[in-house]
Amino acid sequence: MASGIGRARRLYRDCLRQCLAERICVHCGMAAETDDPNVPDSLFGFLYAIQRPGSGGVTVPVCRECASASKDIRFATPEAQRRHIDAVLRARHRRDLAVADWEDDEVARLGYVLRTAVLNGIDGRERAEARLAWPRRRPKGE
Ligand SMILES: [Zn+2]
Repeated sequence: MASGIGRARRLYRDCLRQCLAERICVHCGMAAETDDPNVPDSLFGFLYAIQRPGSGGVTVPVCRECASASKDIRFATPEAQRRHIDAVLRARHRRDLAVADWEDDEVARLGYVLRTAVLNGIDGRERAEARLAWPRRRPKGE
């Protein structure tokens, strides 16, 4: 029987190929902005085999926020790194994640400025939720 950790690792490895090909942050699904050499120990061999690096070494594509969240910390497994980054993202985006749901007719009754603020807030919440659910969901607009 497959363990939860085994499933998570397979999911991560599958999404790594897509992230490398499409320059997607491996941790949250946003557009990658840099290449992070902070690779969990247990993934090094796998990444080395699929990347065949030149002089640049083994790296993964990441957004700046995820890169800074795990900067200077070594992780044994991708699950440990992901748990750490999720906790950091959850804390940084706690206000986005707390935005309430609005019914369409409630939003329609608002003036332009408030309606725009509410819709931007809902977009921010959905983006934060999708980043935490990556790779099962992908943030919109990325
Ligand atoms: Zn990210």
